[in-house]
Amino acid sequence: MLMDLHTHTHHSFDGMPQSVAERIARAEELGLRYMAVTDHVEINRFYPAAYYGAVETEVWNYDGQRAFEGSLAEVTAEKSGCKSLTLLCGAEIGQMTQCPDLAAKLYADPRLDLVIGSVHELPRRPDFYFLDYAGEDIPALIADYFSEVLRLAQMDTWDILAHLTYGLRYLPDRAAVDLTPYLPVIDEIFRTVIAKGKAIELNGSGLKNSPEYTDPALPLIRRYHDLGGRYLTLSTDAHDTKYLGFRMNELEDMARAAGFSALTVFRKHQPELIPLP
Ligand SMILES: [Zn+2]
Ligand SMILES: [Zn+2]
Repeated sequence: MLMDLHTHTHHSFDGMPQSVAERIARAEELGLRYMAVTDHVEINRFYPAAYYGAVETEVWNYDGQRAFEGSLAEVTAEKSGCKSLTLLCGAEIGQMTQCPDLAAKLYADPRLDLVIGSVHELPRRPDFYFLDYAGEDIPALIADYFSEVLRLAQMDTWDILAHLTYGLRYLPDRAAVDLTPYLPVIDEIFRTVIAKGKAIELNGSGLKNSPEYTDPALPLIRRYHDLGGRYLTLSTDAHDTKYLGFRMNELEDMARAAGFSALTVFRKHQPELIPLP
C-alpha cells in the first residue's frame, strides 16, 4: 500500500481519541509507505470562540489554532520513531479564501510537508454536513460550491485540493445530480491545479458507508488526467485507526483506471512522483 495522505487524530474536533503513535503502529502493520497526518484547521474559526464573541456548538467548532499547534508538534516529535513508514506532517485547512493572510502564515510553517485545502462551508453558512437540504436551491448551491472551490484553487497556500465533490456528499439524492452544467467550472479548477503544479486527491472516505462512492468519482479523476493532471494523491480521510488504508487497493485500481502510472507525495510542499506498481 503506497499512501494514505489525509488522516485525522485526536487533535481534530471530530477525530477519535487516538494518538499519532497509534496510527504509525497501524500504518507499519499495513505496510503503508507514506502517511500524512492532516488534522482539521477551520481557518475562519482559528481562534477560540471568545475571540469572535461566539459560543462553541456542534455546528460551530473553534480554536483551529490549538489543533494546528498540537498536531504539528506531535507529528514532528514522532517522525523519528518510524521504521518502514515515512510520516508526513500536514494540515487540512478549511475556508482559506476567507483568511488569505493567515493561510499564508500557516503554509510557511517549516514543520509542514503538505497542506490540504478544503471547502467545507460557504461564507456565513454551516458545513455542508449540517445543511437542511429541504430548504435549499440545490443547483444554485452546487454552483456556489464549485465557484468557491475555484477561488480556493486560485490561491497558492495549499498543495492538495481536497474531496472535489464534498458539496454534493450529503445531498439527499446525490446519485441523481447531473454534473454536466458544472463541467466548465470543474475543468477550470483542474486547469488551475495543473498550472500551479499542485494535486487533487482521490478521497475514499465514502467507501465506509457505500459500495463505491468516492470524492470525486472515477469519471472526474479520468477527466483531470486527460486534461494533463499528473499529481494525484490517495486518501481514506480516516478519523479512526480502523479506517487507515481502508479499501486502499480499490483506490489504487481507480487511479490506474483513470490513466495514472504514478501517485504523488509532498515533502516540504514539493511534489514527488511515486510509481504505481
Ligand atoms: Zn475535509
Ligand atoms: Zn479530512
